[in-house]
Amino acid sequence: MPFTPLHLGPGVALKSIIRSRMSLFFFVLVQILIDLETFFYMMQGAWPIHRFAHTLPGSTAVAFLALLAGLPIYRWVRGLSLGTGRFQEARDFLCKENTTLTSAISGVLIGAWSHVLLDSVMHSDVKPLAPFMEGNGLLYAISIDHLHLLCIVSGMAGMLLLFWFKRRPKRINEP
Ligand SMILES: [Zn+2]
Repeated sequence: MPFTPLHLGPGVALKSIIRSRMSLFFFVLVQILIDLETFFYMMQGAWPIHRFAHTLPGSTAVAFLALLAGLPIYRWVRGLSLGTGRFQEARDFLCKENTTLTSAISGVLIGAWSHVLLDSVMHSDVKPLAPFMEGNGLLYAISIDHLHLLCIVSGMAGMLLLFWFKRRPKRINEP
């Protein structure tokens, strides 16, 4: 699918649990890069629109591309002077100051593999294990409505948890 915020729901939920161990910035970046494939084939009027980037091997390759391309973009975004308003808060939420290489790697990999997983349930032309296996055993494993609901609810729950962590008074010695 062309990039959709629905992919972010499970990512935000996971982020609220593992927190600094996953970068949301790199998670989002890999979603966009993977769906450039869909966008490209849609513009061409070609079928299938989900190809190599929507397989596990392909998405892993895109994940490492996202890591390479993302590091300078991350540094540039972090270097922007945004004052103290909403823009800075949004930047700090998505592009945390304390992002490490490990959290960037987990961001791109979790982002890539969760993208393929969700699209495999939704789209008949996704072949997650190609070129090793044709077919898609996950297709319609749950209904599209339930999948959308899961993404929305998990995203909202994750946002609430992240908001709670942000507002909670910090204990001494807490990292
Ligand atoms: Zn997709």
